[in-house]
Amino acid sequence: MAVSTTAGAGSNDAAGASEAPDLSADDLEHFKKVLEAKRVALVKSAQESLEQDMTLDTNEMPDEVDLASTEYIQSFALRLRGRDRKFLDKIEEALRKIEEGEFGECEDCGEGIGRKRLEARPETTLCIRCKEDQERNERDFK
Ligand SMILES: [Zn+2]
Repeated sequence: MAVSTTAGAGSNDAAGASEAPDLSADDLEHFKKVLEAKRVALVKSAQESLEQDMTLDTNEMPDEVDLASTEYIQSFALRLRGRDRKFLDKIEEALRKIEEGEFGECEDCGEGIGRKRLEARPETTLCIRCKEDQERNERDFK
């Protein structure tokens, strides 16, 4: 995994950091791969905890190829609970947004989500400001 400093290969940095991240097809491809890898990792780790919880029959375990198939993941998703399920839903949603050209937009305010934030959490649906608002509200109304 190439972690490079964001030296921006000729992109217009002067255009304002808070604007829409202006993702190229290559960027989208990159995020798609990251999301797909996350999805596989999530399913794998969820599988391991399922195994521990209810001694999943190892004959049921799919090989690597099956693991990456949408069909498998969708059926597996039904067995996920709580946090894992939510996270998987977010990943699926982000992948859908990439397909539909909506990726990188905040669901709340419609602003672009910063590239740095997307790199850290490509499954996010909120820009940092809206996310902070949301967290503040969750704290306040507990
Ligand atoms: Zn926002």
